[in-house]
Amino acid sequence: MSATQQLLILGATGSVGMSTLAVVAEHPDRYRVFALTAYNRVELAEQLCRQFQPQYFVMVDPVAAERLRSAISDLRTEVLSGTAALVDVAREPEVTMVMAAIVGAAGLAPTLAAVEAGKVVLLANKESLVMAGQLFMDAVVRHGGQLLPIDSEQNAMFQSLPNFRIGQPLTELGVVRLWLTASGGPFLDRPVDTLAQVTPAEACAHPNWDMGKKISVDSATMMNKGLEVIETAWFFGVGGDQIEVVIHPQSIVHSLVEYCDGSILSQLGSADMRIPIAHALAWPERIHSGAARLDLRELTDLQFQTIDNDKFPCLGLAYSALAEGGLAATYMNAANEIAVQAFLEEKLGFLQIPVLVSEVLSQLPSNEATDLDSVVGADEQARRLARRLVDRQ
Ligand code: NAD
Ligand code: MG
Repeated sequence: MSATQQLLILGATGSVGMSTLAVVAEHPDRYRVFALTAYNRVELAEQLCRQFQPQYFVMVDPVAAERLRSAISDLRTEVLSGTAALVDVAREPEVTMVMAAIVGAAGLAPTLAAVEAGKVVLLANKESLVMAGQLFMDAVVRHGGQLLPIDSEQNAMFQSLPNFRIGQPLTELGVVRLWLTASGGPFLDRPVDTLAQVTPAEACAHPNWDMGKKISVDSATMMNKGLEVIETAWFFGVGGDQIEVVIHPQSIVHSLVEYCDGSILSQLGSADMRIPIAHALAWPERIHSGAARLDLRELTDLQFQTIDNDKFPCLGLAYSALAEGGLAATYMNAANEIAVQAFLEEKLGFLQIPVLVSEVLSQLPSNEATDLDSVVGADEQARRLARRLVDRQ
């Protein structure tokens, strides 16, 4: 077994962060929690500091950081604050492995910093790849670190590509198509004319997965699958024409790889993020995840269906943004984050989410993403426009 990993979890208080800590807690000989980060949840952060005794805890919000400092003054954990501290801790020489589980664009800078510092990076923050795919993957290749996918679908494809190395064309491995499965979310069977009035609580009630609010709304609009199409394209170096989305309501088959000889390989498992997390934490070894095992005799009803693109226009928007290239996906991601936030605050209707994203995409020029500053600038520009469009509602 390899030496103990010194782990940083970006977004430790979130759904993926907490699932990671649940796996890590079962393997104290393999993983030491070196640093954790959160936005502003003080009580949970205190609990995590007491349980895992990290060297650093980055609490982005300065007021929450001050409260955490006084709450854990008896511990030796040092509390840092501000977004720059996320990047600093990602570059910390003692850190060997980084779980990138911040939600949204806020995850890009620290995740990229971890890549550039040559860490083993476990990527849950799909928005990083959507916003800055080319820059991000170039950095992975240039700095020679290991990037492992946490998103269950990309993790399943990775497991079904045993000889894959980042940068290697999939055609060399005989791959003809990647099948990306989608549960269909909570509204799969609801007629589109009933969706205008859905509430945030209804949109967040995912049938199979227990996740943070943003990705839950993305799953309901299918923008999550759109983000995953772009994530898949960058991670595996394929075009949108080689990625096929298929509805699989049971969330058991987590995606598939089709080879030229007609073979299709896949990874199956219960809908529990501890499985891909444990896979990436231990790769290329295997460890127990704590997840429930599947009994194949009970899987009598695995279905695959064609997606209704008219009902879920976000998926088409993502395919178009990927084909357009440049900063289109950066704009799309930013507009979507603003639209989802506005929907959660009940300032925007559910069906207005794709309308707003499409409006932002049509109004902004599709320049090239030359460096991180141009990506951050494009992200801000799209956010400003999206906010104006929300206010006009
Ligand atoms: P979450 O909302 O549960 O947690 C997000 C974490 O990010 C929290 O720790 C929060 O404190 C932190 N955070 C939020 N805003 C921040 C900011 N501005 N600056 C710094 N930190 C901030 O989200 P989640 O469901 O765990 O998802 C995390 C990421 O993983 C997302 O990119 C999501 O798409 C991806 N993902 C999640 C799942 C899942 O099952 N939850 C599955 C696949 C991929
Ligand atoms: Mg996923």
